[in-house]
Amino acid sequence: VTFADLGLGGNIVRALADLGAEKPFPIQAATLPDVLAGKDVLGRGRTGSGKTIAFGAPLAERLMQLWAESGKAGGKRQLGRAPRALILAPTRELALQIDRTVQPIARSVGLFTTQIYGGVPQGRQVGALQRGVDIVIGTPGRIEDLVEQGRLDLSEVQITVLDEADHMCDLGFLEPVQRILRHTAEGGQKLLFSATLDSGVAQLVDEFLVDPAVHEV
Ligand code: AMP
Repeated sequence: VTFADLGLGGNIVRALADLGAEKPFPIQAATLPDVLAGKDVLGRGRTGSGKTIAFGAPLAERLMQLWAESGKAGGKRQLGRAPRALILAPTRELALQIDRTVQPIARSVGLFTTQIYGGVPQGRQVGALQRGVDIVIGTPGRIEDLVEQGRLDLSEVQITVLDEADHMCDLGFLEPVQRILRHTAEGGQKLLFSATLDSGVAQLVDEFLVDPAVHEV
């Protein structure tokens, strides 16, 4: 199968080729149709399996679909628009690594990403949010901080990805992640990736995933 067979449009297929991904890896072939169908997904994927493209490519495609369905296509670049997708990662390094893959995919269909993580002043991050972004990629601490300050509005987030959910729980982020998810749009799609289903992860699955498609890698 090809990425086009799996339901991705030409711009995204070309962006993937530019990233060196010409042929889908197994996790991508398994996960893509479920994500595009709007299902919740539980992926037991490790780093190196290709999970970033497995969630990043269909996420961009699906945001375009949702936008078309909502009939608001003209408002795409509206200044200060609230993000419609959120990708949570345990560390700044992983958030940046995810952005390096997701940013060119998103740009190929006119969507903007930004990174939100701690350890740096928040001014530039707040500035990017004020200009308006479509996909926020970041770590739970700073994201919750900006939500509490009223500078990050998650109420329009229709797709949320939890990457390395076990690692996030190990770092003490279970409760911040739970609080963040409760700020996202009711009934939004959730994609959770984790090597294990240890206690914290199981709680997240129970509370937030509805009838998930499960894929082992
Ligand atoms: P990840 O597991 O998402 O960190 O991806 C691991 C590595 O595999 C990254 O360097 C990706 O660019 C690469 N990769 C992901 N999917 C593909 C693919 N379908 N074909 C070739 N390389 C890929």
